[in-house]
Amino acid sequence: MSDGQIIKTRFAPSPTGFLHLGGARTAIFSWAFAKHNNGKFVLRIEDTDLERSTPEAVQAILDGMDWLGIDYDEGPYYQTKRFERYKEVVQDLINSGHAYYCYSTPEEVEKMREEARAKGLKPKYDGTWRPEEGKTLPPKPEGLEPVVRLKNPLTGHVVWKDMFKGEISISNEELDDLIIARKDGTPTYNFCVVVDDYDMGITHVIRGDDHVNNTPRQINILKAMGALIPEYGHVPMILDQDGKKLSKRYNAVSVMEYKKLGYLPEALFNYLVRLGWSHGDDEIFSKQDVINWFDIDHLSKSASQWDIAKLNWVNSQYIKNTPTEDLVSMVKPFIEELGGSTDFSNINEIIELNKDRSQTLVELAKESLLFCKQDYSIADDLREKHMDEKSIANIRSFVESAKQIKDSDWNSDNLAKLIKQKLDELQIKMPALGIPMRVMLFGQKHTPALELVLSILGKNEVLNRLNKYI
Ligand code: GLU
Repeated sequence: MSDGQIIKTRFAPSPTGFLHLGGARTAIFSWAFAKHNNGKFVLRIEDTDLERSTPEAVQAILDGMDWLGIDYDEGPYYQTKRFERYKEVVQDLINSGHAYYCYSTPEEVEKMREEARAKGLKPKYDGTWRPEEGKTLPPKPEGLEPVVRLKNPLTGHVVWKDMFKGEISISNEELDDLIIARKDGTPTYNFCVVVDDYDMGITHVIRGDDHVNNTPRQINILKAMGALIPEYGHVPMILDQDGKKLSKRYNAVSVMEYKKLGYLPEALFNYLVRLGWSHGDDEIFSKQDVINWFDIDHLSKSASQWDIAKLNWVNSQYIKNTPTEDLVSMVKPFIEELGGSTDFSNINEIIELNKDRSQTLVELAKESLLFCKQDYSIADDLREKHMDEKSIANIRSFVESAKQIKDSDWNSDNLAKLIKQKLDELQIKMPALGIPMRVMLFGQKHTPALELVLSILGKNEVLNRLNKYI
């Protein structure tokens, strides 16, 4: 990059499905690098594969970026809107002698490759139509549309210092005269990427390491265009627990799936940025921390391992630190999805009670459902085991005393006192009172501390529910 040039990065997804975790992490790295350097971050949709790109997939990417809070300074640009520009650059390269028309048919090219293979050479186009000084080209065949090929240098190396992988050097002998425009004039993938990166003033190309092989080809196109070469950084992959590329086999891989599973976007963002980058021993970062601290020296050079337990821990930290009122509105849709009602006056207390013990909003909703689902049923075995006459008599005695508590005094301290008093009076141990009461109130044996759940459920509801069985 030249002096004084503003740093510009981009995220350039091909919209063929959804926003993948790996893509999101690449986007975050690109975003963070730009923001840390007071630069700009561009979103570009690489939708030239008309068969595979769909408007739904474009929307899925925009939604995923939006949910994660990865904002962009420019774009989204769409490659399909830039065909005229690509054609213009193809023509410029032909005019300047850096690209040429090639009339070899695909069958002929395949034959050239086979012959090269047979001689133990790299299978490549043999340069039949490549113009050279003093060379006479074959006569143009009638009725055949040509492709356009880049006149790749025949000798020397393409070398770049990768932001993640260090120096990479590829011999030009390894590279073919790349087709940059097809017979119908449409530009090819690598060419569009290069023209865009050039036109958009991208100074740092940060992308997945499945693109390493494209980089020398792209650099040669840029050189032919007389353009400055950006820095390149190829982000190592995310692997699953078997050391394989992260796939749907074990994990959800779509960002928006994590929304449905009850993860907070800030937590997923935090987890993803930490996966392959570190800042001392820190584990929890706000977006501003990331902007302040993101440096390429602390990027990991090797692949990272997806660790759902760690993501759960990060998510639990975010849940714990979110104000209860905010959590209430986040968790309500999950409770409703599970069939619970949320117009419960004590919903804040319910969430408060459970927020420290839930790793996801789904878990929090499930814990809270205890209070939010009225139509619970009591399983036969619980009824037989815990609702015998003796237990019912004990509960009846508790209800008689509980009725005496004034509405305004119905709180966990007073309830704890009452429970203790009843245990002494009835000469029984806690489980003999607690289990039947929980079964009658909730249809289950285990809940948080009895006085807490009684207090949250409220006097009316407790007495109504218990009265049904005594
Ligand atoms: N469109 C490519 C992809 O989705 C990325 C291209 C690039 O970043 O250069 O894999």
